[in-house]
Amino acid sequence: MDLKAHIRPIPDFPKPGILFYDITTLLLHAEALKEAVDRLATVVRPYKPDLLAGIESRGFIFGAPLAYALGCGFSILRKKGKLPGRISAHEYALEYGTDTLEIHDDAVQPGQRVVLIDDLLATGGTLAAGARLLRQVGAVVPAAACVIELSFLYGRSKLDIPVETLVTYD
Ligand code: IMP
Repeated sequence: MDLKAHIRPIPDFPKPGILFYDITTLLLHAEALKEAVDRLATVVRPYKPDLLAGIESRGFIFGAPLAYALGCGFSILRKKGKLPGRISAHEYALEYGTDTLEIHDDAVQPGQRVVLIDDLLATGGTLAAGARLLRQVGAVVPAAACVIELSFLYGRSKLDIPVETLVTYD
């Protein structure tokens, strides 16, 4: 199945000049959603994860069914101020300003293999921050996986782990 046929490009969102790839249309389509999760399972399984870690918020949408499919647990990386327990945080640079990802300190046991999941790889800043935060709490991070890659932004070059992606826009 052609997953691209179910991804909707929206011009000028969130600001003029940006072409936003919208996965809500893929989610609406039962077979496309199943295909995306099944294909992610195929590429992530070889890394033998103990846990997956989804990045808020679209990383949760793909990450949770993927964890179910792979029979592993699911940990969440959230934006600032959302997690109720003891947390570790990592602030990272955006094009304008900064953002912060947080994780519960007990969300990972030291040495567990944790694969990062998000919907889309753009500049790589979000996945790089996620990997650093997971290592901060003791995880081994063998890889990351996303549905979409915007290869013209060279996000992979920011990462010291392999990134598995299903569809590429260049
Ligand atoms: P990066 O940090 O530049 O790689 O941006 C990736 C993050 O921004 C991910 O969490 C994505 O959900 C989000 N993002 C950036 N561009 C898009 C897009 O075109 N569609 C959906 N999400 C996007």
